[in-house]
Amino acid sequence: VDNLVTAARGDGVGHASASRRAEPWPNDPYPAGSGVADRYKSLRAFLAGEISAESIVATLKDSGLRGMGGAGFPTGQKWSLVAAAQPGTVKYAICNADESEPGTFKDRQILADQPHLVLEGLLLGMAVVGAEEGWVFIRHEYGPEEHVLREEIAALREAGVIGPDACGSGRRLQLDIFVSPGGYILGEETALLECMEGHRGEPRNKPPFPGNYGLHGRPTLINSVETFADVPIILRRGAEWWKEQGVGESVGWKFFAVSGHVRDPGVYCVPMGTTVRELIDTAGGVLDGAAVGAVQPGGASSNFIGPDQLDLRLDFGTLAKAGTMLGSGAVVVLAEGTDLLAASTNVLRFFRNESCGKCVPCRVGSTKAHTLLTGVLDSGSTLDDAQRGKILQLEEAMRKTSICGLGQVALGPVVSVLGLDKGGAAARPQPKPEGSKEQPNR
Ligand code: NAD
Ligand code: SF4
Repeated sequence: VDNLVTAARGDGVGHASASRRAEPWPNDPYPAGSGVADRYKSLRAFLAGEISAESIVATLKDSGLRGMGGAGFPTGQKWSLVAAAQPGTVKYAICNADESEPGTFKDRQILADQPHLVLEGLLLGMAVVGAEEGWVFIRHEYGPEEHVLREEIAALREAGVIGPDACGSGRRLQLDIFVSPGGYILGEETALLECMEGHRGEPRNKPPFPGNYGLHGRPTLINSVETFADVPIILRRGAEWWKEQGVGESVGWKFFAVSGHVRDPGVYCVPMGTTVRELIDTAGGVLDGAAVGAVQPGGASSNFIGPDQLDLRLDFGTLAKAGTMLGSGAVVVLAEGTDLLAASTNVLRFFRNESCGKCVPCRVGSTKAHTLLTGVLDSGSTLDDAQRGKILQLEEAMRKTSICGLGQVALGPVVSVLGLDKGGAAARPQPKPEGSKEQPNR
């Protein structure tokens, strides 16, 4: 079970780059193989005064685009909030490419294959909110993708698309890359800001949100890789086109990283609203033709769903109603017979290790729960009522009182598995899996 989740982290495959796809992805509005001169058309149109900031925001709102980092905040609304914040002050924009959620590696593929869309989206965001300086904050293990981005930025400079007089507009647009010093928590947007300011990377209390009080206290637009990449697609192809791509009520294309017990783990771009079952089939089905035991549909932070829920549509609303979430676009599939308590304890171990320690409920609660669960797993016994009660209490305390998402969700997957098992460890087939061994803290 340990190996399964480690491999699903994306860095478990070594530090090789995401292999670049030979064929263009179905969402890309630009012809395959075109260069800077043939791309960045919406940015050029904006800088030439052919489209306004207001119309860009209106198109994003109309498209229904929501933040793909996990929380699904409406993108058009965020852009208009930052554009309106503190008129006349310096503003910034940041692309959060610190993808570190276990099982999540789709942004890495987007960075490798579609750096032009990511950077055009970031530049459009800068232009719309009135920022002159923008960064891609990238995970330090993503060296090859950082290289791809640096080459693209150099090509943009060379072509005069960015610089002191972007596209001859008289507007200054500068891009740079900030390499994360490491640590899962730095992907939390306010910890990321603290890190960029040279402080210890710990989350801030929200509100204020970065859109009002961001880098150096200035209004800062922060979106994830996939969100920024979607912007030029929507502007080129139109909000209506985007909405038509989804299934039913869902809108647009969505990248998913599929891992675990599937035949062809990898990154898939499918219409939003594709069912969990369809995506697993797209990834070659469960290994050795086994049945599905459970699925985490939105990365390690998301609650597990059971084999009777495979016809759920992968979209924000459907998964939230089902008590889980779309989250970071990582679908982790566990075959029938997998020890679910061991798997969810392994996820908890990750969160315990990555807790920044700033607040007590997360720091102490994750350790307490982990100690209790590994004790049960190591003894090969089952959770008794008192232990289940303790886990539920810890989960509630952490969910309600932790400062940031890490502490709030750390025990969710464990509790969801207790629900699926209906008897907790009683339903587990293997009494003492290898994954139950204590791991060294970092
Ligand atoms: P959040 O709900 O606090 O915020 C989401 C975004 O909306 C943020 O950018 C925030 O600034 C903005 N926002 C929210 N309310 C706002 C308001 N009233 N006014 C202005 N802006 C507002 O969520 P979060 O803690 O930033 O993110 C949690 C999600 O991150 C989880 O759902 C999880 O799936 C995901 N996640 C992803 C990864 C990954 O590697 N991709 C890792 C960990 C967690
Ligand atoms: Fe740090 Fe955990 Fe508190 Fe988040 S919830 S600030 S990770 S201690």
